[in-house]
Amino acid sequence: VTAISNQERAQEYSRLKDRLALGGMALTLLSSGTFVFSGMAGRVNKRLLPTARPAWPQRLRYTATLSGVSWLAGLPLAFFSGYVVEHRYGLSTQRVPAWVGDTLKSKAISTPVELALVEGLYATLRRWPRGWWLVCSAAVVPLTAVFAQLFPVLIAPRFNRYEPLRDRELADRLKNLTDRAGVPVADVLQMDMSRRTTKANAFFSGIGRTKRIVLADTLLDGFTHEQIEGVVAHEAAHQVHGDIWRFIALSGIFTMGMTAVVDAVSRRVLHAMPDLVGTDDLSSHRSLPVMGVALALAGVALTPLQLAYSRHIERRADRFAVDLTGNPRAYANAMRRLGEMNLSDPNPPRPVTLLLHSHPPLAERIERAEDREYQQMLGNI
Ligand SMILES: [Zn+2]
Repeated sequence: VTAISNQERAQEYSRLKDRLALGGMALTLLSSGTFVFSGMAGRVNKRLLPTARPAWPQRLRYTATLSGVSWLAGLPLAFFSGYVVEHRYGLSTQRVPAWVGDTLKSKAISTPVELALVEGLYATLRRWPRGWWLVCSAAVVPLTAVFAQLFPVLIAPRFNRYEPLRDRELADRLKNLTDRAGVPVADVLQMDMSRRTTKANAFFSGIGRTKRIVLADTLLDGFTHEQIEGVVAHEAAHQVHGDIWRFIALSGIFTMGMTAVVDAVSRRVLHAMPDLVGTDDLSSHRSLPVMGVALALAGVALTPLQLAYSRHIERRADRFAVDLTGNPRAYANAMRRLGEMNLSDPNPPRPVTLLLHSHPPLAERIERAEDREYQQMLGNI
């Protein structure tokens, strides 16, 4: 009876989260569209960017205002989805002040990055009015690579505490496993994920020579050593296959598609309605709200492609992990345990998977592992 009710709870939780994610996408499109097409953006532009070539303090104030307003507009949904729902299902261990602290910290880190990116975008637009989107896509690749290097060093420690894994026997076992996979690690760390959530996770940190495995303390408490080996083998697979580099290269291609759509849509809107935001020139900062709508549109249209590729990579990592550990049963159980702890719906509706999920449905991942176990059994007869 408990098993059934747990599964029902998982289904209820993940369907709610999925609906909120889809609602968030629709809300972004709707609110940014309303902002532009109601004429509100035009009035804001007249006030904050009265001249055609504003100086940089004016430009930064303008970008920061738009970014701040859209952040505030998304805050109620973020609080409901990230705090209220997480508490309702017993997944969050945070109090309100800690959640607010995290949210403010993230915004404080992302705002200067956003300002720099927007300035870079318009500088590129003025220099290469036609080919700006190709230049931006080419720039995204090294930027993402640098960010992937800096994130674990500069940003992650501001949100969690990292220390060497206390269970040294397990650490040796995992080092042995990653050695066999051909991706030796400098150390195995544990991270205090339980200060925010009861959900479990594990990942490789750093893409240089000093790779580390990071295990959430929640994973250590909730999983057997065999299951943890399965989870780490999956992460090792991403390293062996160079999936990080694949993703970085893909982000360049993805950005190319996104910016091509943004270029085409924004130009058309600005030409058809030059009074809308007070310019028909894409390289004027006044075009930013129109580019925002176009970007939201391009995201909805192109994200499913990126997700499909991600699910393909995840399937391959599952296969590799099962073969590396040689223990498909433990792997299937690890997936089950992950589903229980993270309250994942094992069988989400197909359209939801296509639109939102970077991983294949858990039921599918478990079934593949069990198929492998069955093949092993046949091989042994
Ligand atoms: Zn993965």
